[in-house]
Amino acid sequence: MRPTAVVTGAASGIGRELVAALQHDAWVAGLDRDPVDDDSPAAVHFRVDVTDRNAVGDVIDKIADERGGIDWVICAAGIIRDRVSWKMEGDEWDDVIQVNLTGAFNVVRASLAMLRRSRAGRVVFIGSINGTRGGFGQANYAASKAGLVGLARSLALELARDGVTVNVVTPGFIETPMTRSIPREALQRAIARTPLGRMGLPEDVAAAVRFLCSEESGFVTGVVLPVDGGQLLGATP
Ligand code: NAD
Repeated sequence: MRPTAVVTGAASGIGRELVAALQHDAWVAGLDRDPVDDDSPAAVHFRVDVTDRNAVGDVIDKIADERGGIDWVICAAGIIRDRVSWKMEGDEWDDVIQVNLTGAFNVVRASLAMLRRSRAGRVVFIGSINGTRGGFGQANYAASKAGLVGLARSLALELARDGVTVNVVTPGFIETPMTRSIPREALQRAIARTPLGRMGLPEDVAAAVRFLCSEESGFVTGVVLPVDGGQLLGATP
């Protein structure tokens, strides 16, 4: 039987592409608070808010009952509420931490019993290079993405005995609806600071996630894998 995968943030951008890429290897359930269009690649789509712990538990149980287990969990649901820290409202902090960090924990926590029973359990979080280097106006977002690294490494230790790997893919600037609102000049500056000289595509991120879910990556756990065209390396010559 094909592995059963759960992808959050499946209605848009990177998550949507993850569903399309992973369905070559797995049966994929998409989760998102938003509906998907009719040509969504997901085998099945659930509308659920990842911050709603009980609703997430119900959906995960439903998938596990139908499929007899869950093998891969990929958490891509995420939001930004950018504002410089001295102007940031409490709600802007709370919302971003709730969705990006607590939401990921909710989905993995609900899946843990099934992941531990799987013969090739995989967890992949979509972090951000700004979780490593920080981001101006992104104290909430960078903290949430840095938190995913600590969460992943702790889970990697706890789940290793069951053969479950837990890793984080950290994209740089990727062309999705999330980055569409960024002013053109800011994007141009980001591209100029990217050694490979372009924005990333959702496909670039999906290829890394597909590897981390594969059988061949079974000895890779607790890593943070940037998919950023070399942005973290610093200035181009
Ligand atoms: P996107 O806005 O296109 O997609 C995010 C998806 O998450 C949306 O479908 C949205 O409905 C869903 N979502 C948001 N809150 C949710 C909730 N509470 N419950 C369920 N679903 C929810 O953004 P994207 O660019 O595809 O981002 C995907 C992930 O990649 C995010 O975690 C983001 O932080 C990360 N990321 C993106 C970039 C980039 O440049 N685009 C860079 C680094 C990291």
